[in-house]
Amino acid sequence: MGADIIDGKAFAAVVRGKVGEHVARLMADHGIKPGLAVVLVGEDPASQVYVRSKGKQTVEVGMNSYEHKLDIDTSEADLLALIERLNNDADVHGILVQLPLPGHLNEDLVINSIDPAKDVDGFHISNVGLLATGQKSMVPCTPLGCLMMLRDHHGSLSGLDAVVIGRSNIVGKPMAQLLLGDSCTVTIAHSRTKDLPDVVRRADIVVAAVGRPEMVPGDWIKPGATVIDVGINRLDAPERGEGKTRLVGDVDFATASAVAGAITPVPGGVGPMTIAVLLANTVTACCRAAGLPEPEGLTA
Ligand code: NDP
Repeated sequence: MGADIIDGKAFAAVVRGKVGEHVARLMADHGIKPGLAVVLVGEDPASQVYVRSKGKQTVEVGMNSYEHKLDIDTSEADLLALIERLNNDADVHGILVQLPLPGHLNEDLVINSIDPAKDVDGFHISNVGLLATGQKSMVPCTPLGCLMMLRDHHGSLSGLDAVVIGRSNIVGKPMAQLLLGDSCTVTIAHSRTKDLPDVVRRADIVVAAVGRPEMVPGDWIKPGATVIDVGINRLDAPERGEGKTRLVGDVDFATASAVAGAITPVPGGVGPMTIAVLLANTVTACCRAAGLPEPEGLTA
């Protein structure tokens, strides 16, 4: 029997729909239009695609989008001055600095200069600390998207065994915090973990965030487990024509989907959720700034 496919594309459309409804209510009842500022330094092609997509979706849900494209050799002082202006701009409720930054800019310094209340990526050290201590925070988009899909599929996650493979600050660690917050028993695995297959086999929930194509095979998966594949790996696909590529996750979908109870595909799983949650975080930030109730079901 095959696994249920958790359709991230459809789920993201539902999240965007809820965001759009909330934005319309904020406008109608309070005359407030949420605004998201995205800062891009340099011309990295992948970052340009992400920023364009973020801007387009921001406008589609009825919010203001402010794009700031800076030269690759922008100085740290100029970038910090822009962030300061955005911090003080009442029309800007969310600020996102597209990563990675060019090497001469100190990423930690830049991220920690964003007003934590406007830090819709959830990377500011204050938000990291608030999440770790179970307090209200801005939560990183990708893990929050994974949590939303897990809650939707399972209802309560309480007491389930969860294994997160990967311990990065942007996915693995916040994912583990969120699962802990929902009362899972959480194991964080990484490149030094002994007997990873055995660790993964104990899990009711597996979140793979490694960046290694199809590393997790079906025989590591406990029958019936839910598998969330965060990985995005681009492989050459000469069978599709010269120069063509295809995307795969960190999980071997063919074998894992034969064993799992539910699984996210790549593409079409976690990926589409990330921007949808960014929009949700912007509305949440806007509501908090205005002292209004937060949108239901769109926060941790
Ligand atoms: P990082 O490279 O920052 O972290 C990878 C983690 O995987 C590290 O903790 C590393 O362990 C661990 N790891 C590496 N090799 C192994 C191994 N053989 N066994 C077990 N663990 C291992 O990656 P990110 O967290 O930034 O991203 C992970 C994946 O998720 C990537 O494919 C990325 O493209 C994707 N991604 C997708 C997003 C989306 O929107 N869907 C958003 C963000 C990321 P150690 O710490 O010991 O080195």
